[in-house]
Amino acid sequence: MIPFNDPFTTGKELEYINQAIANGHLSGDGEFTHRCQSWLEKQLGISKALLTHSCTAALEMAAILADIQPGDEVIMPSYTFVSTANAFVLRGGVPVFVDIRPDTLNLDESKIEAAITLRTKAIVPVHYAGVGCEMDKIMSIAEQYNLLVIEDAAQGILARYRGEPLGSIGHMATLSFHETKNIMSGEGGALLLNDPRLVERAEIIREKGTNRSQFFRGHVDKYTWVDVGSSYLPSDIIAAFLWAQLEQVEAIMHRRMQIWQHYHETFAALEAQSQVRRPITPTHCQFNAHMYYLLLPNLGQRMALLTQLKQKGILAVFHYVPLHNSPAGLKYGRVSGIMTNTEQLSDRLVRLPIGAKITLQEAGYISSLVLQILTEQ
Ligand SMILES: *Cc1c(COP(=O)(O)O)cnc(C)c1O
Repeated sequence: MIPFNDPFTTGKELEYINQAIANGHLSGDGEFTHRCQSWLEKQLGISKALLTHSCTAALEMAAILADIQPGDEVIMPSYTFVSTANAFVLRGGVPVFVDIRPDTLNLDESKIEAAITLRTKAIVPVHYAGVGCEMDKIMSIAEQYNLLVIEDAAQGILARYRGEPLGSIGHMATLSFHETKNIMSGEGGALLLNDPRLVERAEIIREKGTNRSQFFRGHVDKYTWVDVGSSYLPSDIIAAFLWAQLEQVEAIMHRRMQIWQHYHETFAALEAQSQVRRPITPTHCQFNAHMYYLLLPNLGQRMALLTQLKQKGILAVFHYVPLHNSPAGLKYGRVSGIMTNTEQLSDRLVRLPIGAKITLQEAGYISSLVLQILTEQ
């Protein structure tokens, strides 16, 4: 049986957790948290990284920082994970769903302007499969209309758009270290801030609305409740685990790239016969092999492929069920324009197993089965 996601560990996780125990600091903002945050700041070239419990938590922090008020609108794709929308709905915000591009399945930047109203506060581009959204255009629209850009870079670690790391382009960005992502700590995430003016308030929001971080730096002589907030900071045990992963990032990325390339080369022939469509990566986007997907001709063929792979012991999956016509999406959001690409492409997508634990042999087995199933159809 080949599971869809088999989380890869480097072997150093427990050693670092033991070190954290020996350090005697197991709550948030310990030594490993600082190490991970500095690493992210340096690698991504950003003002501040703050570890959180999840990308969801980081998105919730971003919504508070963006000062989303009831009725404020936030433009985002419908083809995304629920947290992209939920984080803003929790503040009374209204997700405004815009269609995706047919090539990258990212937010269609040419449809953003038509979705802007007097209530629009922010745009949330989601870098699907670690391939960058058209950030030049998105940033210039944001500037023109005075909007904040919050990159949902949950899948985007170390990928680039025109040479810039994803997560370093918008005003804020969020990463996920969920076990299904390239670098993981079971659950985990980070809020990335590119505007130094946001840092102080972000630290307060993350520390239950207190100025505890300033107190520990000696900037204030007592700490107290100063703003809204919650507990968004993870234990240093989680950060110790994450540090083991960050140290091995190159090896992890290398293996994922190999598998991705293998799939991509193997399925070229199927694409030539119009049996599948492979992922499209614009030349100015450097991706991170977060995901390998195929687009089948229709829903029936997608489901047939998933079923037959499962019978042979391979767990492939699909996602996302579009948010705009989900029960909560209908209740809390609204649609701008037509959603043809979102509706059609989400029915046709299959994700194949990819990860640093999958061997090239296994990838070969998976791809040959896919070939066999699709040529017999
Ligand atoms: C995984 C993911 C999230 C949620 O991440 P968590 O760390 O599980 O909260 C949000 N947005 C996108 C696009 C994701 O892929």
